[in-house]
Amino acid sequence: MFNIAIDGPAGAGKSSIAKAASAELGFLYVDTGALYRTVALGALKQGLTPEDKEQIIALLPDLDVTMKFVDGEQRVFLNGEDVSEDIRLPEVSWAASTVSAIPEVRTFLFDLQQSMARENNVLMDGRDIGTVVLPDAQLKIFLTATPEERARRRYEQLKDKDGITYEEVLADLNKRDYQDTHRDVAPLRQAEDAVLLDTTDMSFDEVVEAIITLAKERFS
Ligand code: C5P
Repeated sequence: MFNIAIDGPAGAGKSSIAKAASAELGFLYVDTGALYRTVALGALKQGLTPEDKEQIIALLPDLDVTMKFVDGEQRVFLNGEDVSEDIRLPEVSWAASTVSAIPEVRTFLFDLQQSMARENNVLMDGRDIGTVVLPDAQLKIFLTATPEERARRRYEQLKDKDGITYEEVLADLNKRDYQDTHRDVAPLRQAEDAVLLDTTDMSFDEVVEAIITLAKERFS
């Protein structure tokens, strides 16, 4: 199987870029952030806060987290319920970043991610895919952009929905990136053998094209 790992900070455009590149390559796109978001939502639904570490660990055996692919699109399920939309709420983003620092939560989601990559040609994105989940991926990419540019892009997506300000989006991204890069387990970092793609001055199409070119070089 061919595996592509894409890691990078929040708002780097990983998911939309990964979706487009995987469609062109005929690979399955696996969004691992959605799995951490689903665990976070499960905790919130139980009335827990993301800081309730021990209760969250105790809850894990009762959380059934699965994914299905409908017309090539990943859907995530929590105890049989499709929660693909609910996990996108801003409070779930922050909760996901907090619960993902719990080692037991990472172990809980590890096999699911690895088995997807064993059985399919996948393009998988997250924070620790090239470093921990798929250390043998044939192609690893670290996708980033300046915080201001990432916040600007995210703000363009959110502004009509949430009435959120650019400053709030930037503060939220910075806070989450800090937490994701400073945790003890599987912190966000570039794998030594990853290709760095700084997309600050690149268009969406240019980034997708760059990934396709790298993939074709590696897989031909
Ligand atoms: O990618 P997304 O923003 O949906 O991820 C939500 C959170 O899940 C991230 O802030 C990060 O803390 C966590 N995550 C992780 N490891 C991954 C993917 C996501 O820790 N492989």
